[in-house]
Formats: sequence, structure tokens, C-alpha cells
Amino acid sequence: MPVRHDSSEDKAPRTHEDIPERVTKGLVIVNTGDGKGKTTAAFGVVFRALGRGYKVGIVQFMKGKWVTGEVKALERFGDQVEHFALGDGFTWQTQNLEQDKATARRAWEKCLELIRAKKHRLLFFDELNYVLKYEFLSVADVLAGLKEKDPKTHVIITGRDAHPDLIAMADLVTEMKSIKHPYDTQRIKAQPGIDY
Ligand code: ATP
Ligand code: MG
Repeated sequence: MPVRHDSSEDKAPRTHEDIPERVTKGLVIVNTGDGKGKTTAAFGVVFRALGRGYKVGIVQFMKGKWVTGEVKALERFGDQVEHFALGDGFTWQTQNLEQDKATARRAWEKCLELIRAKKHRLLFFDELNYVLKYEFLSVADVLAGLKEKDPKTHVIITGRDAHPDLIAMADLVTEMKSIKHPYDTQRIKAQPGIDY
């Protein structure tokens, strides 16, 4: 049966003229929380943006030791996407705070470079929340950097325990909530195609 719309109740725009002003704004988007899906949801947006022909820049603060499925898939988009991960073999919390801070700062410098280049319509900084949580970077520096972005550019930031100041300045914040995870219930470890 066709779905009938009662126009007295349904206020969704039906024609372009129904939309008084089409507002476009580059958003600061934060995916946080303890549930799975923060990074994968961000890659979902990356995929949408690539489909629209936008250039995308990605900096991953945590990854780099092994090649993930998402990075293999990105290779197919050629120079439409620029991807940077931390150096091979680097592990966080080396018990050397100064070294961790220096590595975080180098990754953030790459983020700043991409922000200032203003050539990407979407930027994705994966696990930036993590380095803010451990105070490897100052949140004030990160907020100042984000303010430099092109007004049309969207920025997605992921990781657990997003800083309250970042949440306050963001336009869109989503908290992933874990209901059940196969590691917790069955000790099933990360699987290719699902987790990396
Ligand atoms: P994903 O990359 O799968 O979207 P995420 O970005 O939300 O996950 P991270 O905190 O970056 O989560 O952790 C990544 C890894 O931790 C993934 O292998 C994921 O399956 C696992 N993980 C995520 N949430 C949970 C959870 N609630 N319990 C156990 N492991 C989890
Ligand atoms: Mg993640």
C-alpha cells in the first residue's frame, strides 16, 4: 500500500522552495564513548565524502603498526585521500612522557598542516581524544587549531573520553554506548574486516 502523507502533520520539505535557506557549514564532529563504532562511523563519513568527490585528509594518532582494511580500501581512491599514521613500531605510553608528547605533537603538526592547506573538504583525526585525555597535547592548542579551519571543511575527531572543552566547541557529538561486545562476553579478539 502506498504511504499517504498527511500534509497537516508532516512538515518535511517536499520541494526546494520549502527550504528557506540552505545552510552549509563545516562541522566539528566528535565520536566518543566506550562502545564500538567511533572509528568505523568516521570512515563511513569518509566514504560518503569520497563518493561526493571531496578531498579527504586523515591523521591516525594510534594506528600505524599494521595495515588496516580501511587503509587498504583508501588506496583505491588515489590522491583524493591523504592518509598519515604514526611511525611503525611506535607504542604509546613508553614510560617516557616526553617522547609520547613529542610524538603526539608531531601528529598534531600534521593535522595543523592539513587544516592550513585548506584543500580538504573533510579531515579525520582518529584518536585525537586519546592524546588529549593523557595531556600529551593541550586542549587549548587543539581548539585554536580547529578554529583555523576553512569554514566549509568538516573535521571528525574520535576516541573515548572526549575532553569537555572539545565537546563544548563541537557542532555534533555522538556517544557510542557498549551494550555487548564479543571480547567481553566470549573473549573473541579483533577480527579482520570487522575490527581492522
Ligand atoms: P572501531 O574501530 O571498531 O570503530 P572504536 O573506534 O569505537 O572501534 P576504539 O576505542 O578505537 O573503538 O578501539 C578499537 C578496538 O577496540 C576495536 O578492535 C574494537 O572492536 C574494540 N572495542 C571497541 N569497543 C569495545 C568494547 N566495548 N569492548 C571491547 N572491545 C571494544
Ligand atoms: Mg577507534
